[in-house]
Order: sequence, then C-alpha cells, then structure tokens
Amino acid sequence: MKSNLEKSALKVMEGIEQPAPINPRFVSGKRTVAVNQPASWYVDGIRNDDRSILSRAITLVESSLPAHYQLAQEVIEACLPFSGQSVRIGITGVPGVGKSTFIEAFGSRIIQKTGKKLAVLAIDPSSQRTKGSILGDKTRMEKLTNNPNAFIRPSPSAGSLGGVAQKTRESIILCEAAGYEIVFVETVGVGQSETEVHGMVDFFLLLMLAGAGDELQGIKRGIMEMADAIAINKADGDNKPKAELARREYANALHLFPPPDSGWIPQTNTCSAYTGDGIPEIWNMIDAYISETKQNGYFDQKRREQSKLVMLGNIERNLKNGFFQNYQIKSMLPMVQEKILKNEISAYKGAELLLETYFKSKDIGKR
Ligand code: GDP
Repeated sequence: MKSNLEKSALKVMEGIEQPAPINPRFVSGKRTVAVNQPASWYVDGIRNDDRSILSRAITLVESSLPAHYQLAQEVIEACLPFSGQSVRIGITGVPGVGKSTFIEAFGSRIIQKTGKKLAVLAIDPSSQRTKGSILGDKTRMEKLTNNPNAFIRPSPSAGSLGGVAQKTRESIILCEAAGYEIVFVETVGVGQSETEVHGMVDFFLLLMLAGAGDELQGIKRGIMEMADAIAINKADGDNKPKAELARREYANALHLFPPPDSGWIPQTNTCSAYTGDGIPEIWNMIDAYISETKQNGYFDQKRREQSKLVMLGNIERNLKNGFFQNYQIKSMLPMVQEKILKNEISAYKGAELLLETYFKSKDIGKR
C-alpha cells in the first residue's frame, strides 16, 4: 500500500535531469589558495601552463588576506621575468552591448587565425556587493571556455586589499608567464575601472550600439577619448544601416578630439558578434596598431609610462594601508572623526593631527 506522503500532492517528483546552469569549466577552475605550497610550486605550475595552478595563483593574488600577500608577491616576482610578451587588449562597453558574445567570436577567431593562446580577464562589477563572481555563474563564452588555447577568468572587483587594477595587472603577469600571448581585459563601461584598465593595456577597444546615443549608453566623453577604436556591435539584420550611420557619427566625433600621442588615428568599425561580420577586420586593425606603434616606439614608451604609474600607485597604496593599519591611528581615528562631527576641530586640523601621530610612530619604530 502507498504511504500517505506518496499519495499527497506534496510528494516530490523525480523530475528530469537539467543541464548545469554553471559552465562546468568555471566550476572546475580551482578557486582555493594552496597556502601550504611554496611560491616555486605556483611558479612551476604556471610555467607549465597548468590552468588549475594558474587559477589558484590568481585567487592568491586576489586574496585580501594579509597572510596571502607575501606568498603572492613572491609568485609575482618570480613570474615577472617571463612576462611582458603579450598583446594586451582592453575591451569595454555597457552591459548588453555584447561584450561576452563579441569576445567569444573575436577570441575564437584570433586563436584560429594566429594559433596563439588567449587569456580573458573579466572584471566583474556586479560582485561589489556579493563579493562573488556573478559573471562566472552565467554560461558565458562557452565555446571559448572549451577552447584549449583559451583561459577565461572572471575576477571579483571588490574586496581586495590593493584594488582591482592592481590585481588585474598582477593577473596579466601570471597569464603571460603561463605563455598567453594575447590578453583581453574586459570591463563594463560605466566609468571607474576604464581609466585603470586603459593604464594596463596596449589597445583599448570600445564597443557601442547604434541608435542608443552616448548618454543612454552611459559612455563618458573621457572613455571615448581613451579608445583606440570604437566598434559598433550588432551590425546585423535591420540594424546594419543604423550601425553604419552610427559608425560615421562616431568617426566624426573622434575627429574632434586632440590627436593621440600614439600617432594612431582612432578607428571606427561595425561588427556583428552573431554573424562574424567585421570581426576579422578588427583583428587586422589591432595587428596594424601593434606594428605601427612598435615601429614608432610608442608601444614601449607607453609600457614604460604604465610601469611608472604602477610604482607610484604601489607607493600610494602601501602608504595608505600602512597608515590605516597603524595601531595608534586605528585607536585615534574614531575620536578625531567625532571631534570633526561635533565641530570641535576642522577637517584639516584632524588630518594634520593624525598624520603627525603616524609619522612620529614611524620615527619611534626606527629608533
Ligand atoms: P554584455 O553584457 O556586454 O557581455 O553582452 P552580451 O554578450 O551578454 O550580449 C547581450 C545581448 O546582446 C545578448 O542577448 C546577445 O545575444 C545579444 N548580442 C550580442 N552580440 C550581438 C550581435 O552581434 N548581434 C545581435 N543581434 N545581438 C547580439
């Protein structure tokens, strides 16, 4: 006889097996840090292009735990001599412009055409609140993810000690040491991270849509100014003529900006990540940019400028971390803030007091 539960409407039916909502390759990518391993274990793994170890090393670099910091620095330091050889391409555009679809088509095309290895680092702004990587949970770039020559890594943008840019820069070093010759850094074109990404790539590509208007796309003038090329995506079907019109408008708009130091005139293209139209041309254009700027010296000059900024950024970050982690500052800061709120001292005086205390504590430490 059937039990009451089995007859009841509350009985859970077995159901049909569903495909995993999460790309299995993302899941298998190890996201844990192997703390017990020495730096050499990471470096050997990276140099042998062991994706799982590369993935773990990136997790280590992204970690906000002070305990991981030293190990991460050792790994980066050891990878540095093997880095710098890739072409770094920043790809940006508002959500929905088709970045992941484009990267899938563009990346597959590059791998097929050049036989080179491609790493895609995606900065995921949605993780700001969740501290997890939401992009990685979607089945994005499925074809590329399964391509043995591609390594795709969505990175959380928040919760790291050194800031996103620093972490992405370090991840680039690790990917290059693993032999990736082309690195994409994908970011969402809403403002903050673009300037930083621009400061770590050789070529900056802005994806736009036809007929949406700059304001609607949330693209700031400054971002357009940084672009080495603008590609109007979704140039397919009925949208094709509109895309061409938009391309001409953007070409005109770009003419109004002062000529860039690279000597390169920013280009405008149309493309369709769906049909593949215009995709080969974008790669040819980037290829031309690389040869041109390598020839005129701008490529190396820009990299050196970027290194200078990295150094300055590091100083700033370390000073700031040192300041806010200082024992005396930690205990004094709430008090000073309270005084400012009560209007007992000015903000300038408050800052002066804290800085004086900090530098004095450093002097005492030295004696
Ligand atoms: P992202 O948010 O910028 O990464 O954009 P997605 O790649 O997720 O694409 C957003 C939507 O646009 C999806 O529904 C895509 O299928 C669609 N899409 C992307 N590229 C194209 C394209 O070239 N043509 C058309 N018609 N649709 C596209």
